[in-house]
Amino acid sequence: MKRILIGVAWPYANGPIHIGQVGGCYLPPDIFRRYHKMKGNEVLMVSGSDQHGTPVTVTAEEEGLTPKETAEKYHQINSKALKDLGVDFTLFTYTMNDTHKRVARDIFKTLYEKDHIYMDTMETFYCPHCEKFLPDRYVIGTCPECGQEEIDGDQCDECGALLDPEDLIEPECKHCGGRPELKESEHFFLRLSAFQEKLEEYVEDKDHWKNHVLNFTKGWLDEGLEDRPISRDMEWGIPVPVEGYEEKKIYVWFEAVIGYLSTSIKWSEETDGDWTKFWKDPDAEHYYFLAKDNIPFHTIIWPAMLMGYDEDLNLPYDVPANQYMRLGGEQFSTSRGIIVSLPDVLRDFDSDAVRYYITTIMPETKDTNFTWDEFQEKINSELVGNLGNFIHRVLSFTHSNFDETPEAGELEERDTEVIEEIEKRVEAISEKLEGRKFNKGLKELTALSRTGNKYFNDKAPWEEVDEDKESAGTTINISLRIVKALCVTGAPYLPDSMDELWVYLEQEGSVHEQDWKEAIEPIETGIELDEPEPLYEKIDLSEMREETDLRNSLERLDLRVGEISKVQEHPNADKLYICRVDMGEEERTLVAGLKPYYDKEQMEDKKIAVVANLEPAKLRGIESEGMMLAAQSDDKVSLLEPRGNVGENIKGTGPGAEMISFDDFEEYELKTVKKEDGKIIADDVVNLIDAETFKAKEEEEEEEGKEVERVGVALIDDEDNALLLKDSEGVVRLDEELPPGSEVM
Ligand SMILES: [Zn+2]
Ligand SMILES: [Zn+2]
Repeated sequence: MKRILIGVAWPYANGPIHIGQVGGCYLPPDIFRRYHKMKGNEVLMVSGSDQHGTPVTVTAEEEGLTPKETAEKYHQINSKALKDLGVDFTLFTYTMNDTHKRVARDIFKTLYEKDHIYMDTMETFYCPHCEKFLPDRYVIGTCPECGQEEIDGDQCDECGALLDPEDLIEPECKHCGGRPELKESEHFFLRLSAFQEKLEEYVEDKDHWKNHVLNFTKGWLDEGLEDRPISRDMEWGIPVPVEGYEEKKIYVWFEAVIGYLSTSIKWSEETDGDWTKFWKDPDAEHYYFLAKDNIPFHTIIWPAMLMGYDEDLNLPYDVPANQYMRLGGEQFSTSRGIIVSLPDVLRDFDSDAVRYYITTIMPETKDTNFTWDEFQEKINSELVGNLGNFIHRVLSFTHSNFDETPEAGELEERDTEVIEEIEKRVEAISEKLEGRKFNKGLKELTALSRTGNKYFNDKAPWEEVDEDKESAGTTINISLRIVKALCVTGAPYLPDSMDELWVYLEQEGSVHEQDWKEAIEPIETGIELDEPEPLYEKIDLSEMREETDLRNSLERLDLRVGEISKVQEHPNADKLYICRVDMGEEERTLVAGLKPYYDKEQMEDKKIAVVANLEPAKLRGIESEGMMLAAQSDDKVSLLEPRGNVGENIKGTGPGAEMISFDDFEEYELKTVKKEDGKIIADDVVNLIDAETFKAKEEEEEEEGKEVERVGVALIDDEDNALLLKDSEGVVRLDEELPPGSEVM
């Protein structure tokens, strides 16, 4: 039994994790963890949300939230997304937790007391117009390495270069666009230069590191290490634990890596675990999974911090950093709008399909490309066409032709060859997983499945079964052995579907609790198998694309739940009301032509749907800061009545959406709809795209024996695709139900 600590790079809590990061650093450690657990090793896998630093404050400003709110929001979103992907940490925490703050302060203080940290002055950017110092991401400019424009001052998203804001060509203040100037300020520095020799020694026996990781690290060492500033002039973050300097904050890269240790300690505090078994027993191995832009923090800076803090702590054994996974050739980047978020992808696809494709293009040695066409191709031809197909053929043939799993009779040469191949492939998969070559391991798995398909075709048990049932039984017995081997060795890669398969094989417990060696054990005979459902489904992207377009249209509408606090009659108009509306963070004035349809009292305290990103427009002299949505049919008008929390977005409409004009608004058609026979009915039949909520309701009500007819509101495009409006309480309904097809505006 080995003890293994797996550290996973801390995602910034400034946006949803994107699929590039999944291939880069979140999926590999989960596959590794699941494998080692089946090998009987004790694994501690830790990570969490990186909640401090400028990435969070910049986003908070853009979203009109406090840094704490932003940090909490994306921690929730990302924890859920990773969980939905099946990435299962021992503990996934966040840097605002007290244990982390305590450990981070202690490490800083200890290093300061031991003189590994010292104070000095340095020149940093200061904006004379804004009258403040500008920490890293508050300066933008052109990358000196690759020429990419408008990059942040700490790092280039395009080429991965680590920067200081002073390196930027044409630097600008992010707040005002003005030219910042350099000004002296006192800061704390990590005396990295003093660790040069010790780090050279540390790297000496790291021949098992990937070439690009070793080369990058040696490159830094060859250039000679320089001391690095580790404090920032900003409000958000962990205060520097030195008296008189609490106004300064610990720089986020110095602080976040400490999370590996603090989370292990937190795990000890919360369970009966003992973190020192992982950190102080020299036999425990530490693996850190991250993307290439994080290499020096984990191969140089973190080891130096550990050496300086406590010599008994284990240093990284391996840092299997990946290269970049790009999207259609471009680097994922929130700032340039090239982003496909993990929550979005998981809303549309099964997690195992996502895990499968991403593993096939995992950027283990070079940059790779995620493309939707290839995603569809690989899922349909490989996951469904090869692996899923083989498993399904064997299970359904067994179910329809054998009352129970048959014994193997006399083996022919072909049979023994296949049994040998099972053992060989399982060994190879094991070797690849051990060596962090996940992509190659999956190739061995699909090769075994291809062998299975070929064997099944060649032996043609559907012919054998009539002529010689015993011989057909042998074929089935061996085919089931292949299925079982695929199930056990596939479990780290495809955790949900392989667990489902384990049940189809009528095995006890979960496949994830099995010993790895179970992969080559013969199957139990005499077991009755249930009729199987296919494990995987084909993907049709053309359908998805229409949905995506429609979603994007809806994304552009900033639609929010508001609550009317006060209604007044418009002094200069007969039909207009002037309403004060509580939007959560703010109050707004909306002018609405509802006087003929609603009494003032009916409207007060009512929740309404507000289009919040319309440019303000004057209506008879009073400025309306948005629009409340209502449906109209003949002479009846009914307000949309969301039930979610005040201020919350309705259906994926994001903060930071651009202002749209009234003209733009006409591109969309909002209509009341009802569901009938699996279609959304407006005035004409439209295609049902997003009706999970309807579906759930329908099932619920069918069970109760009720007739299903519900009116909601949908966004409809010119091809009659519909997207229902929803908030956290479900489909947005009307105050009073109007017939389907009623226009909403
Ligand atoms: Zn400025
Ligand atoms: Zn660059």
